[in-house]
Amino acid sequence: MPTYTPMIQQYLSIKEEYKDAFLFFRLGDFYEMFFDDAVRAAQLLEITLTSRDGGGDDRIPMCGVPHHSAKQYIKRFIELGFKVAICEQVEDPKEAKGVVKREVTHLISPGMVMDEQMLTNNDHNFLGAIASEGNTYSVALCDLTTGTLQATYVQTSLQKALEELQRADVREVVVSNQWQHEVSKINQWAVTLADEVDPKEYAQRFTLEHEENLPALALLVNYLEKTQRRTIDHLQAPYEFELEEFVQIDTNGRRTLELTETMREKTKKGSLLWLLDETKTAMGARKLKTWLEKPLRTKHRIDDRLQAVEKLLEHFTVRHDLRESFANVYDIERLAGRMSYGNANARDLVQIKKTITALPAIYEGAKQLNLPVAKDIHRHMQTLQKLHMQLSEALLEDVPMSITEGGMIAEGYSEELDRYRDAGKNGKAWIAELEQKEREATNIRSLKVGYNRVFGYYIEVSKANLKYLPEGRYERKQTLTNAERFITNELKEKEALILQAEEKSIDLEHELFIELRKSTQAYIPDLQQLASFISELDVLTGFAEVSEAAGFVRPVFTNDGELNIVEGRHPVVEKMTVHQQYVPNTIQLDKSTRMLLITGPNMSGKSTYMRQVALISIMAQIGCFVPATEARLPLFDQIFTRIGAADDLASGQSTFMVEMMEANDAIQQATEESLILLDEIGRGTSTYDGMALAQAIIEYIHEHIGAVTLFSTHYHELTRLSEQLSALENVHVQATEDQEEIVFLHKVMPGPSDKSYGIHVARLAGLPEELTRHATELLEALEEPHKEVAVSEHSTVVPVEKVKESEVEQLSLFPEPKVDQEKDNMKKSEKAILSDIKAVDLMDMTPLEAMNWLYNIKKRLKS
Ligand code: ADP
Repeated sequence: MPTYTPMIQQYLSIKEEYKDAFLFFRLGDFYEMFFDDAVRAAQLLEITLTSRDGGGDDRIPMCGVPHHSAKQYIKRFIELGFKVAICEQVEDPKEAKGVVKREVTHLISPGMVMDEQMLTNNDHNFLGAIASEGNTYSVALCDLTTGTLQATYVQTSLQKALEELQRADVREVVVSNQWQHEVSKINQWAVTLADEVDPKEYAQRFTLEHEENLPALALLVNYLEKTQRRTIDHLQAPYEFELEEFVQIDTNGRRTLELTETMREKTKKGSLLWLLDETKTAMGARKLKTWLEKPLRTKHRIDDRLQAVEKLLEHFTVRHDLRESFANVYDIERLAGRMSYGNANARDLVQIKKTITALPAIYEGAKQLNLPVAKDIHRHMQTLQKLHMQLSEALLEDVPMSITEGGMIAEGYSEELDRYRDAGKNGKAWIAELEQKEREATNIRSLKVGYNRVFGYYIEVSKANLKYLPEGRYERKQTLTNAERFITNELKEKEALILQAEEKSIDLEHELFIELRKSTQAYIPDLQQLASFISELDVLTGFAEVSEAAGFVRPVFTNDGELNIVEGRHPVVEKMTVHQQYVPNTIQLDKSTRMLLITGPNMSGKSTYMRQVALISIMAQIGCFVPATEARLPLFDQIFTRIGAADDLASGQSTFMVEMMEANDAIQQATEESLILLDEIGRGTSTYDGMALAQAIIEYIHEHIGAVTLFSTHYHELTRLSEQLSALENVHVQATEDQEEIVFLHKVMPGPSDKSYGIHVARLAGLPEELTRHATELLEALEEPHKEVAVSEHSTVVPVEKVKESEVEQLSLFPEPKVDQEKDNMKKSEKAILSDIKAVDLMDMTPLEAMNWLYNIKKRLKS
């Protein structure tokens, strides 16, 4: 170990405690980083790497950022998922004996950001924690900026617990050693290994309904307390929820349904959130996102919301006035957080005051519509009236960001302050009169009194007029090219008085402000609750706004399995479709018809139709009106989707594997009350095993689950299943031909589609004419095996006539059910295979086993 200088030794001992953070080590006007931190930071922040002598043999790598612009670098680190420990000099360097004392004053991590500039207004910033006891997993969530604390627990499924953290879109997860590996696999968040805590130590602190929630809460709060080194009393009592209260949609489902961001560009624009977000406040925008992540399952809670939307929709003027009032509502939820953190400034408090000023109008609006929330707002409005008075008396309307430069406190709030201000004012008035007085006394009209930071107040006489100045009247101070500056004793005395008064009043203002900020802390819980009510009203008003603009209707919930959406639309596609009219489509299912098999050409609108059913259900279950002319809906408990090709390359899984895993999730977890969307299942493998799996999946859901299932497919053979499966119906999305060109009608009609139009779509995509013509001939030959087909000169395709008719038939897994003759012609071994397929229990298989099993079936078929 080299003998480092005392300062480097100090650095190393502090760094030892903050191994997983970049240590910003204060050195004069800079935050410096050393050793590996410096090398990595130089690369990540694109700043210059230098070195310094530190007492060892080699120079020490070093890089630094100026302390006044450190924020932007910290922000960059946070965005990249790193932590930054800020280490300050905690004693005056002039008084230090030896090395200046330094300490880490705070730790900033992705889940513990308080700085406004590093946060997105419309989004939560969650820190999560996961812990387990036996086979119960507890999950805790905290948004430090607002003080929200939530907790839930899951039995046996780590996957579900992780899913909950993903749903909240946590930035950072606190784990104990045990779960570090599992949690680190999900690379969307920063993982923090925290000290083990005995949950019992925290048992007193929280009054919990379910003690299963305690371990993660203890882990999380312990971590916060250790790292924040300041009061975090704005943490609210934990809100305990059960997963069953909300519609479960897994991460993949939320992604494919584009609830909060689009799949490809990851933008809000184009998502359901974007469509519905007519909120006026940042709190409202955050609440809407939370609602979208957690649609409700309790009918009366949803109906309460719908009832409010209906009233708001019917009363345009009230709604309009409410929205105007929301424009004066600031982010009191985050302001409350900053107040408690002790970093709220005067502007923040003025914003709180302005928000309270807006309350009566909001209350009036809510009362006029008889909304239950009116009562709650009224209650808080009254409590906060005192705070309003206090803030109005104390603060000026227009205040600076800084709390150390004065200009915050209103006149009449403190006698002492007024006295200093008067003294300053009198002095200034005396100086203002001085100019006039001296002009008259000297008869020099251009004489003036001025001020600058270096010399203070002075009397200035131009060179040309110097000769008129009586000798010895003033004391010479500074010579300029064209003028001379003077002072007098009296002027200096007044100046001292003004400056002293100013300094004193600035100090006093600071003191008064800190006191004021402390005394406002008592109102934090009120502000937090009020924030919740106002944000809810903001979201509902926004719902009414969108519903009116886009012609949505109030959904009605059924409890007999009926699902009837008349002329439903996909709200986002509708909004984005500019060139043509959106074609509305109806869906009608009930207890005895649970499944739709949807056929139709590519691009015709199959997946849009399926998604629209899911989106309408989600909109309904968050309490919004829906895009249809009538909607009668069941309350879904879970929504499963398998839509589009989502290769999970990061975890090295193929499309087909992902497809099977998603199908498996649905099959394992869905109930009769769930909605399952399966888009072209089986496409990722060869035709026969794809088709076999698709059929087996449909049959399985039909026999064992009974969930509302929409299944789109290109396998026309599957349309025959409706003859055997009573709850399955065929529909197809219409398309027609116009001079060999396909025309999409986007209309969903009963029955299977007549053909698949693949070649038409290929033609639309611009494939060479020669190729598509040849494909048409091949297709005809396949459909009518006796017809001869001309093999293109360059073709390597096996001429169709070589495919024996008998082979085609024998390979078909889906023989016409009623043609007994054909059945008899089948080989015995193939019948056995068919019955094997029917009998196989997919539930018992891993996707890999399923693939192996299929492979064997194929082998048996070939032999
Ligand atoms: P498929 O799943 O059948 O391949 P999609 O559902 O992806 O087709 O639809 C393809 C495109 O057709 C959509 O992006 C949309 O622009 C348009 N579309 C789908 N449904 C409709 C509709 N009902 N009305 C108007 N345009 C639609």
